[in-house]
Amino acid sequence: MPGYHALSEAQAIEYARSIPDLFSKNSELVCREIGDGNLNLVFHISEPASGKSIILKQALPYAKVVGESWPLTLDRARIESEALIIQGKLCPDLVPHVYAYEPDLALTVMQDLSDHVIMRKGLMDGNRYPLFAGHIATFLAQTLFYTSDLGMNQQQKKEQVKRFINPELCKITEDLIFDDPYTDSPNNNVPPAIRDAVEAVWKDQALHLEVAILRGKFLTHAQSLLHGDLHTGSIFIKADSTKVIDPEFAYYGPMGFDIGAVLANLLLNFASQEGWSADADSRKSYRAYLTQTIRDIWTKFEAEFRSLWNEHGVDRVSKTAGYQDWYMKEVLRDTFGFTGSKMVRRVHGLAQVADINKLEDEAAKERAQRIALAIGTSLIKFNRQADSIEQLIEIADKAV
Ligand code: ADP
Ligand code: MG
Ligand code: MG
Ligand code: MG
Repeated sequence: MPGYHALSEAQAIEYARSIPDLFSKNSELVCREIGDGNLNLVFHISEPASGKSIILKQALPYAKVVGESWPLTLDRARIESEALIIQGKLCPDLVPHVYAYEPDLALTVMQDLSDHVIMRKGLMDGNRYPLFAGHIATFLAQTLFYTSDLGMNQQQKKEQVKRFINPELCKITEDLIFDDPYTDSPNNNVPPAIRDAVEAVWKDQALHLEVAILRGKFLTHAQSLLHGDLHTGSIFIKADSTKVIDPEFAYYGPMGFDIGAVLANLLLNFASQEGWSADADSRKSYRAYLTQTIRDIWTKFEAEFRSLWNEHGVDRVSKTAGYQDWYMKEVLRDTFGFTGSKMVRRVHGLAQVADINKLEDEAAKERAQRIALAIGTSLIKFNRQADSIEQLIEIADKAV
């Protein structure tokens, strides 16, 4: 990309000054780089005199994945900003506002959400978010319906599919979620304490068949424009607000992959509660809060999706009697399968989660890993028989 260079903090300030109608001329601006530096730079720029602030997110041309640096397309910055803009049109309250996108620098300028916390941390701190299920259900129903062949003209949708092919980031998912965890790959980080359970995963052929089928759907089922990385680290939250960030993995794929990402990360926290809750009563109560949230997410998602379909479905064929019921069941079944896939990879795959890995008590950590693996593998094996979200909650409750 001509003109691309990774910005320093001083250059980020200079760039921020060039954005029209934002900061006052010649005022003092303060900049901090707050990203983790693996894939992207994230600059927080503020103007102390006015209290105004913004975020600049810049993609780096290399990623530290699989142990070493390897090239990764800067086009993902375009994909991220375009996805944020589409999501912002459909649910303006649920994503950061995008002020500008600068293709030559692979840079997105967006609303500062520093008054929110990353949801993974909020859950590890034991907070509860009663409005979250409704917010995320709306995000899922709006974005998945209106970008699908049900909610948009099918020829225009094909144009969108082309804009969001995203092969390099999809390859990361294909390897780290659907391949490495099921074989003795050097990319795995197998916790020694649960080696026996991981080896059982490597040998389980019934499990491998289901994962192959799920991967096939991820590869070929261009159903909706997905966020593609919708874990609780991509959700900013506070009591009255939910904001989804970081859609650089966006592509056209199966709806259940996004829904499953949310449910999986709630269940990873559920699995780790022996380390986070102070006693058995509070653990039981927090787990019940998490499973109720899961129930509410699916129930509200389904109701909102069906009502969008009934009121705004674009064509006659999709209103064929019985089709909607069949379709929703398929989405539910995919959700079971992808929830399980997203759990398993976080136990012994390359990239794990703080909910489990930050546990200091080794026995609690091992329990969390075993519970997560048991829930994940059960959901994958059961996925094609699923009929109700209650079965997912039963599988989770049985594992603890
Ligand atoms: P990456 O793709 O590298 O994971 P993210 O978009 O997830 O980048 O951002 C990394 C971190 O930067 C977030 O966890 C958060 O701490 C911070 N961040 C990102 N976007 C914003 C924002 N709009 N407002 C405030 N902080 C942000
Ligand atoms: Mg990161
Ligand atoms: Mg992120
Ligand atoms: Mg990211």
